[in-house]
Formats: sequence, C-alpha cells, structure tokens
Amino acid sequence: MAILPFPQDGCKVSPSLWNASGVLWLHGLSGSGKSTLARNLSQELTHLGVNSFVLDGDSVRRGLNRDLGLSPEDRKENVRRTAEVARLMAQAGVFVIAAFITPYEESRHLVRATMVQARIPYAECHVSCPLSLCMYRDPKGLYARARAGEVKGMTGLAAPFEEPGHPDLTVNTQGADVHECVHTIVSFLRNRHMLVPVPDEEQTDAPMINAKKSQDTEGISSQQVV
Ligand code: ADP
Repeated sequence: MAILPFPQDGCKVSPSLWNASGVLWLHGLSGSGKSTLARNLSQELTHLGVNSFVLDGDSVRRGLNRDLGLSPEDRKENVRRTAEVARLMAQAGVFVIAAFITPYEESRHLVRATMVQARIPYAECHVSCPLSLCMYRDPKGLYARARAGEVKGMTGLAAPFEEPGHPDLTVNTQGADVHECVHTIVSFLRNRHMLVPVPDEEQTDAPMINAKKSQDTEGISSQQVV
C-alpha cells in the first residue's frame, strides 16, 4: 500500500514508519550514476514512508540557474544556490537528495558548511566511476557532443573534477548495480541516524502500519549496515 506524503481530499495520511532528515549530496562525473541513484533512493524512501525530494543538476540548470554557464565561477555559484535551496527544503522537513557534479572541493566544503551552520544532518556521497565507463555510458550524449566540439568545458575532458578529499561515503557504480548501491546508501543513512525507525508508540494506524512495517524492515536488516 502506498503511503501518501501529503494529506489529500478525504484521505487519512499514514504515519511514517521511518523518519529521515537532512541532505544527502551526491557528486561525481557526468554518467557516474548520480541521477539514477537519487531517483531510486527517493523511491525506496517513499516505500519507507519518508518524504524526499531530488534536486538534480539538469533540472536546476534549466530553471533557477539557467543564467549560469560552465566557467569555474558559475559552477561554484550553481552549487552555492542549490545548497541554499536544499537547506530551505530540509528545514521544511523534506529529506533532500542532491545530484550534482560538484567538481570543486571548495564547493563541497561550502555545501557542508551551509548545512552544519544550519544544524542540518548532512552527508556527502561520492558516486565513483572511471571516466572511460562514464564516456561509454554517456546517458545524455554529452561526451559525444563534447568530442564533436558542441559542448565546451565538459568535466573530465576540458574541465577538472577534483578528487574528493573526505566524502562520508563512496559508492562505486562500476562494480555494483543500482540496487546494491541504493542498498549501501540506505544502510549508511541508517548507520548515521539520518534514517531512523519511528517508535511503535508514535504509530497510530496500527493494522496497516504493522503489515507495512514487517514488509519494510525485512529489506533493511542490521546485517546490512555498513
Ligand atoms: P549522472 O546523473 O551521474 O550524469 P545518470 O544517472 O544520468 O548519471 O546515468 C548513469 C547511467 O549508468 C544510467 O544509464 C544507469 O542505468 C547506468 N548505471 C549502471 N550501473 C549503475 C549503478 N550502479 N548506479 C547508477 N547508475 C548505473
């Protein structure tokens, strides 16, 4: 049974089985798997009754940040503005999953500082994948267009991707499929207490919740905590 994130006409909203708070920031090369993992993680959280939102680099660049290009300054501003949006959304109680290349370590520090200052639970996850495989996947055709000279400043080719110094988590999408990577992230969030079970006494809709709970907790056992 689906759990509705918001009240709708005449519907009783089910209490969450799990609570998640904060911001998870995924960074990595284009094609490394950030958007795929963000979407799949968000779906998994929905099954757990958690209200999450994916902030994706592509969609933010189409709207809020459409005035920004690919210069180092614009890339940093792209991240800075997005971090502010993520902060506001997290403060409103939404678990935010941000999927951005975030090529500069300076920007990664800025995002972390923004969240720490606002006392928002925060974790940085590096989505690791060799450039050669990212270019082979090329899900948006960007590497092909860059090689044809149609895209300037492609990260990994004409612009740097600085190796992350201290990500809280690294998932390697070369050696693991999407399901395994999402599983690793969910376990990590649990371990960090960014994803916590709602105590039984706070769950009021007993019959439905109990049925759902036994189903969901099967998927996240303590053995799976990294
Ligand atoms: P990004 O958002 O980093 O640019 P995408 O998520 O758009 O990358 O594309 C990644 C591609 O790699 C997708 O086609 C996806 O199906 C594939 N892929 C293969 N294995 C994985 C994995 N373990 N995690 C994420 N994506 C994967």
